[in-house]
Amino acid sequence: MSELEGRWSDGRTSRILAVRVRMASPDVLGLEPVEGAAMLWPIGEVSISPRLGRTPRVLRRSGHGQVECPDSPLLDQWFPHGSGRIEGFADWLERRRAAILVAAAVVLVLTVGFVHLGLPAIAKVAAERMPRTVERHASDQAVALLERMHLDPSRLPDARQRQLRQAFARLVAREPRAGEMALHFAHAPGIGPNAFALPDGRIYVTDDLVAMAGNDAELMAVLAHEAGHHVHRHGMRGALESSSIFLLAGVLFGDASGSSLAVSIPATLLSNGFSRTHERQADMYAFALLKRRGRSPQAFADVMRRLSKGVPKGLEKGALGYLSSHPPSPERIAAAEAAAR
Ligand SMILES: [Zn+2]
Repeated sequence: MSELEGRWSDGRTSRILAVRVRMASPDVLGLEPVEGAAMLWPIGEVSISPRLGRTPRVLRRSGHGQVECPDSPLLDQWFPHGSGRIEGFADWLERRRAAILVAAAVVLVLTVGFVHLGLPAIAKVAAERMPRTVERHASDQAVALLERMHLDPSRLPDARQRQLRQAFARLVAREPRAGEMALHFAHAPGIGPNAFALPDGRIYVTDDLVAMAGNDAELMAVLAHEAGHHVHRHGMRGALESSSIFLLAGVLFGDASGSSLAVSIPATLLSNGFSRTHERQADMYAFALLKRRGRSPQAFADVMRRLSKGVPKGLEKGALGYLSSHPPSPERIAAAEAAAR
């Protein structure tokens, strides 16, 4: 076989002509219609479409239209230089579906690995170098957002607030970053019994949580956990991680509507809470701190039990309570009781 069946079109009208394609002479391609005169195309003026799997090839000559013909080894003889390296590679991939699947799996594993290991590691390093002004600015914005949604001035008497602030200051005295920690109280029935730490060290406690805790030892156990979040910079790390995931998703899926730190902080604090790793780390910190102060982590187990039982009416479902960000799981209670022994 030394010729191919092709379909020629002039590239301007819809007319299509069946032609036989063969080498008319060295370096000249002959296109012979069933009727009419043959067209002679010098090879040097003809470009060939890349080979892509089993798709037909297209030969083009500027100003003279194009011929579509089935792929064939003949074309490799006629066009020994093919259509370029990148197309050759694309064709190589196209013909090796297994290679594509393996490559896709590798990309997936690398992406998941990066999100689970790489991002948290980068976020940790970045959070440790984050200037105070950035922490404060991000926290201000988060508070502004939270105030619009949930937080009102506390209804606790001033004397009671002062008493709890002093007890908390004694609890965290001489701890790392203790000077930055400040206790704030808020009336926020919308988020129920709740406490959270902002990246700059502000720790919020809702009136509902104060009312629900069985005693101040239990309240301090919850605050020790929040202090752990601040010591380990979980607020900034979580915000960096989640905004990086949005950013990464934007890059990967072409939607670059990344979320700002300010938006992701309240989301981190109230919806899904910190990562399990951060929660466990804050728990461990709290148990160790309580023991260093001669207190028992049992108080932590007690308050977790109380929170899991006595959720106020109207807050059982869908409410943004301490429960949603800090599920009082049996594992956490067991860990506190083991630390108390
Ligand atoms: Zn927590």
